[in-house]
Amino acid sequence: MENADAIVLRTVDFSETSLILTLFTRQFGKIEALAKGGRRLKSPFESALDILARIRVSFLHKKGDVLDLLTEAKLIRRFRVAESNLAGLFASYYVAELVDSLTEADDPNPAIYDLTVKMLARLEQGTLLMRSLIRFEGLLLKAIGQQPSLGNCAECGTRINSEQKRIAFGYIDGGALCSRCAESLRQTEHGQFLTSVSADALYGMKQLTDSHDITENWKRLKLERNVQNEIRGIHNHYVSHLLGRRPRLYDWLNFIAQNDREEM
Ligand SMILES: [Zn+2]
Repeated sequence: MENADAIVLRTVDFSETSLILTLFTRQFGKIEALAKGGRRLKSPFESALDILARIRVSFLHKKGDVLDLLTEAKLIRRFRVAESNLAGLFASYYVAELVDSLTEADDPNPAIYDLTVKMLARLEQGTLLMRSLIRFEGLLLKAIGQQPSLGNCAECGTRINSEQKRIAFGYIDGGALCSRCAESLRQTEHGQFLTSVSADALYGMKQLTDSHDITENWKRLKLERNVQNEIRGIHNHYVSHLLGRRPRLYDWLNFIAQNDREEM
């Protein structure tokens, strides 16, 4: 029997009475577990199995492709957003989707757990939603080793010249590119995955996704709406590229941006 702290990422009805849960646990990474009786009102899980809830679970860890078996779940903290914060709710679903789709099962990564817990608490507040998501994406990508290179050329490592108005950016190549590398990549099949970003957007991405930002400057960063939109576009492409498809919540990202409040 194993014990773990977990976030409920997804629930799927399995039978009249049972659920299959996708959990991200702090100790074991992502797991899929069967909760027998999880759909009953009087279940051993005390209605702790709602999406985005933080719970403490006991489960039998099965080997191979067999589902783990949940034996106990206690609610630590229910996810709550105000009715007026629909955008925050969908932003949180997006967070759950990214954690689910960008992590492998049974690959422990406490940093991802802690990041997700923190981000869900942030999104409950209903402000700075889009820049919170941009930050979350950057830190999640870093935690899985897929963070785009922003300060140095993703190909040759030379410092990116931030005096340029626009800087080449490669989705396959993993970030900003110096003009020499961009020029030679344009001649290859990678050329179709190249775009360019404004210096302001590149700077904004760097600031918002800085993992050493202990004083939370990312909340106060002055960010024009069009620059934030540009960063959103780059992240949309980058994430879709990693997933090999658009995220399911993709169409909601516009809604989130439109209903975002920038005050803290
Ligand atoms: Zn280069």
